[in-house]
Amino acid sequence: MLVVKVGGSRGIDYDAFLRDLSGYDDVILVHGGSSELNDVAEALGNPPQFVTSVSGFTSRLTDRETMHMFNMIYSGKMNKMIVEKLQVLGKNAVGLSGLDGRLLEGPQKRSIKIVENGRKKIIRGDLSGLVDKVNTDLLKLLGDNGYLPVLTPPAISYESVAINIDGDRCAASVAGAMGASDLVILSNIPGLLRDPEDETSLIQNILFSEIDDHIEKYAQGRMKKKLLGAKEALAGGVKRVILGDARGENALTEALTGKGTVIQ
Ligand code: ADP
Repeated sequence: MLVVKVGGSRGIDYDAFLRDLSGYDDVILVHGGSSELNDVAEALGNPPQFVTSVSGFTSRLTDRETMHMFNMIYSGKMNKMIVEKLQVLGKNAVGLSGLDGRLLEGPQKRSIKIVENGRKKIIRGDLSGLVDKVNTDLLKLLGDNGYLPVLTPPAISYESVAINIDGDRCAASVAGAMGASDLVILSNIPGLLRDPEDETSLIQNILFSEIDDHIEKYAQGRMKKKLLGAKEALAGGVKRVILGDARGENALTEALTGKGTVIQ
């Protein structure tokens, strides 16, 4: 079993990536849509708002209006675009969000402690949370019958409310719960870079014990969540996590041969 997460950042060649992916069996695909959502939110006059937690992690503030736009872009545009392309490639893809069949479930965050202009502040009522339960029966039902699951945030809270979750950490939960051997996280960068501005500064290998140190030293912004996801996946029993580049012709195959940042 292989779990692949493809990002929603600019520059990703979905046609090439999905052509490559369609050559694999026993795969679950998880995708994002962040840059597309930012563009649409901006165009609709509701620009995205991001906050930084006291521990240094960035996340999107999600009110009800943002959740509507989130569903439009992630479950609507991105998910169906990917499902359509996979169908053209002869793969019987089924697109689901974490709401469907309570596929991805977990607690809504009661509050987020953020830092704003150097001052600490608590935000309540945000529609965001974590995944700590995956409906593996539903995923097995699909996989065993030849369907390729294409999954997207949001998740569902224990109170049945849609919650925004981080896509990388969500892919990590799915990989752990499904007993995947590998988790491949593809984005628009070659992997974890020593210097985010320098694409030649790739860090090729990281050990589990070094992840925290790398989160602190090298990762900025959303890259921190990718490493956190990698750590959670490995702790959940996944053998290897690869951070690879989705911009190439055979992104997945190259990542599986070790191109990118390999974490084990
Ligand atoms: P996606 O939407 O594909 O999941 P994100 O935009 O969330 O990807 O995260 C990838 C981004 O993280 C890169 O485009 C880059 O700008 C940023 N980043 C921050 N620090 C690093 C780093 N040390 N190495 C690589 N990328 C980094």
